[in-house]
Amino acid sequence: QNPTPVLQAHALRKRYPKAKGWLEALKGVSLQLFRGEILTLLGPNGAGKTTLVKILAGLVEPDGGRVEVLQEGKRTWMGAVLEGNRNLYWRLTALENLIYFGTLRGLIPKEARRRGLELLETVGLAEKAQQTVGTLSRGQQQRAALAAALVHDPPILFLDEPTLGVDLEAQEAIRTWLLRLKEQGKAVLLTTHQMDFAEAVADRVAILQEGEVVLEGRTQEVLEGSPGAPYRIELQ
Ligand code: ATP
Repeated sequence: QNPTPVLQAHALRKRYPKAKGWLEALKGVSLQLFRGEILTLLGPNGAGKTTLVKILAGLVEPDGGRVEVLQEGKRTWMGAVLEGNRNLYWRLTALENLIYFGTLRGLIPKEARRRGLELLETVGLAEKAQQTVGTLSRGQQQRAALAAALVHDPPILFLDEPTLGVDLEAQEAIRTWLLRLKEQGKAVLLTTHQMDFAEAVADRVAILQEGEVVLEGRTQEVLEGSPGAPYRIELQ
């Protein structure tokens, strides 16, 4: 493993106003992400995973702490797939989406089209290139969103719940693809509720609970090291 991190988060804090006072969504989270690794964030609902990913991806400003992107350090170089609408325009075709996102992030249209077609092929959606995203299955949309996040070839990729609601076949495709990205030297940070998926792809895991990293380490050590630990019960 390359000892130089591509991204470092220092003491990130985020709070949201609530009826009385504040909700402390992140209470000082620090982490490092390395080239050629997959780091998985696990944790129960409301632990702060999405908030953390959004801050790391530069979509939300923290109330405290900072994010340092090292090496090829431009924020525009990151790719992100967030939970929910899967970040695509549903009335555009899969290929049009990829061309749109590619040009938005600095590619010339011809190059965006070439990369778009190549990526759709890679994620097994070549035949769906001309289909509007709204007519694709959830798993296909998720794979199209992954392709869109990668169209400009970012060295760092953030994925919030990439396997949420997708079928087993799509999960397998996403898993294979993530391992390939890792081999290419990309740094991937993802969140999931699925312990088996985390076990299958992650080099390291960090467990987030109530806005704090309560446990972090190599996947095997964290997930298999202490059977019966409280986080296991809460996550299942
Ligand atoms: P899940 O697994 O359910 O997606 P999570 O670990 O991703 O949860 P977050 O979505 O980051 O957790 O939420 C952390 C806490 O912050 C939750 O209590 C949530 O209700 C709250 N929260 C998140 N976004 C906002 C917001 N925009 N305004 C107010 N509260 C928010």
